[in-house]
Amino acid sequence: EVEARERILEQAEELGVKFVRLQFTDIFGVLKNVAIPVDQLPKALNGELMFDGSSIEGFVRIEESDMYLKPDPSTFTVFPWRPHEGTVARLICDVYNADGTPFIGCPRNTLKRVIAEAQAMGFTMNVGPEAEFFLFHTDANGRPTLETHDRGGYFDLSPVDLGEDARRDMVLTLEKMGFEIEASHHEVAPGQHEIDFKYAEALKTADNIVTFRFVVRTIAQLHGLHATFMPKPIYGIAGSGMHCNISLFRGDQNAFYDPNDELGLSEVAYYFLGGLMAHARGMTAITNPTVNSYKRLVSGFEAPIYIAWSPKNRSPLIRIPAKRGLSTRLEVRHPDPSCNPYLAIAVILKAGLDGIKKKIAPPPPVTSNIYHMSEEERKKLGIETLPTSLKEALDELEKDPVIIEALGPHIYERFMEAKRIEWEDYATRVHPWEIEHYLTKF
Ligand code: ADP
Ligand code: GLU
Ligand code: MG
Ligand code: MG
Repeated sequence: EVEARERILEQAEELGVKFVRLQFTDIFGVLKNVAIPVDQLPKALNGELMFDGSSIEGFVRIEESDMYLKPDPSTFTVFPWRPHEGTVARLICDVYNADGTPFIGCPRNTLKRVIAEAQAMGFTMNVGPEAEFFLFHTDANGRPTLETHDRGGYFDLSPVDLGEDARRDMVLTLEKMGFEIEASHHEVAPGQHEIDFKYAEALKTADNIVTFRFVVRTIAQLHGLHATFMPKPIYGIAGSGMHCNISLFRGDQNAFYDPNDELGLSEVAYYFLGGLMAHARGMTAITNPTVNSYKRLVSGFEAPIYIAWSPKNRSPLIRIPAKRGLSTRLEVRHPDPSCNPYLAIAVILKAGLDGIKKKIAPPPPVTSNIYHMSEEERKKLGIETLPTSLKEALDELEKDPVIIEALGPHIYERFMEAKRIEWEDYATRVHPWEIEHYLTKF
């Protein structure tokens, strides 16, 4: 610990760091910063820097507003796009109460709590996310439009792919910040992209997702583009998902792998899968937390609707990619990139651990295309659907004590309260669709 702090101070000096941003997220996963001049860094590294928690969504009221930021030394990184004089670095922090205890409203502390539960059972969780996003042009005033001017499709090459320069710059920047990029490509829709980085332990991946979203948006802006992780910006074309590849390790062994099983999956993998499916409806408000999230979860665009799993097919909620051995993993396909990654990973892990604890056997896999089945056929197979609106998802979360426990009382209550308001606000407004369909008809 002391050594790690010393090393950061040395590094900061060497790199000519002038400012350090202390980062954390609110309960919705929105990145917050407190910027400090570098001479405050020793104090910050000792966790002595106070901030006012009452101004952060879902944190605390004015009366209890003194909170501390405890930086995680392993997250020290320089922002490579900033000028060389006056270098800016960042540290990701945990939020602590004035009395020195971890603040339970901090999403990062929440994920750490569920990770500790997995550790007590002998498991480390690895997560590899595939975050998709759109690049849109900005207008003369720098405001985002919905125009892409790009007719590229899946895996297309230039010259049709105008976002390619921006994407290349994003990849180079992320690499400078320590990301190992495994793939980057154009996605199915015009203007839609994906950059995949190597899987890591759950907490590191959640930190990486937050950093990733920030870097992608920043670099897009430097190219005069607007990057959005909104799940479904345009009706009638593919939306943006954030599939999460999940595995549990026991030491350096992949606990999901069993060469003697027909599908190469262990009992742990099957129970984890059973837990994911049992809590799928309860966790969706967290993995798909916006009104817009549910406009992506419709048929025809490779987004899941049905709670099913398959060793091949891309239509169900959970796919088992073909790789075995150390790469054995479950691909959970419903999360979208508007989620708070700390909370989303926490509820996925909690659901899977619950499956292991209670030995929840998953239903048999579905090998045919569920979208081509009649409702009756699906009923016969017991295939349920994911919630179809934010409201339905919130109602389901309310009924799932395991997911509520993963969030803890503070985050659960604040999240519910804010999301109910969000839903009400949306539901009571008159939308353009209604005007188009009813104004002249009635
Ligand atoms: P592959 O080429 O092995 O099929 P992909 O490029 O499809 O892999 O990988 C998608 C994501 O899955 C990447 O983020 C990758 O790091 C991640 N991944 C690979 N192995 C694992 C694992 N054991 N646990 C979690 N994620 C993994
Ligand atoms: N864009 C699709 C989704 O919303 C996923 C496409 C893919 O399989 O990469 O989930
Ligand atoms: Mg994709
Ligand atoms: Mg995928």
